[in-house]
Amino acid sequence: MSYQHQYSDGTRIHFPMGKVVCVGRNYAEHAKELNNPVPSEPLLFIKPGSCVVPLEGGFAIPQDRGAVHYEAEIAVLIGKPLSRKPSREEVLDAISGYAPALDLTLRDVQAKLKEKGYPWELAKAFDGAFVLAPFVPGDAIADPADIGIRLTIDGEVRQDGNSRDMLYPIVPLIQHIAGHFSLQAGDVVSTGTPAGVGPLRSGAELVLELVGQPRFHGRVL
Ligand code: ZN
Repeated sequence: MSYQHQYSDGTRIHFPMGKVVCVGRNYAEHAKELNNPVPSEPLLFIKPGSCVVPLEGGFAIPQDRGAVHYEAEIAVLIGKPLSRKPSREEVLDAISGYAPALDLTLRDVQAKLKEKGYPWELAKAFDGAFVLAPFVPGDAIADPADIGIRLTIDGEVRQDGNSRDMLYPIVPLIQHIAGHFSLQAGDVVSTGTPAGVGPLRSGAELVLELVGQPRFHGRVL
């Protein structure tokens, strides 16, 4: 299914789907569960817009490349250009919305790439690798440093985190990112996953939510 940004009330957002800038190991507990050291500056990678699919209606995962892990993340929709080193106010003004998302990862493929010191694209940028729910408007979130993110699979809560536990909180993270890559309207920043990642299987029923905001349902086809 092709992807178009939209708000949780169904309003379409007329920005093109840009790139997704992701951060790895942004929660200490998650770095620990994969035996990764905590980075001394944000560990960034980019997923192309072509890999983004909507959560609702269901999504497919690769069947022939080993384990596909879910990583529930708070995604931030950028609505205005940001570059160089924007101020905190400029970043807040440029945020159009927040959504829960899944940064899907071919974990076995990634382990081999990491071993060799190779880039992660084969594990992170495949078609369907970023599953995005609709956005709640930026002004619906009182404090970006206090957003709950929760993933429930087949009735069981698997990930339950809060942006207050991020090593690099949302606004400083976006300031840092924009110092390296220009961000444009329609780009998404995915802010890292809390602990609890694991493999997805076909037929799994998912509920993804920013705590206190609408809950979104999806299914692995
Ligand atoms: Zn991730």
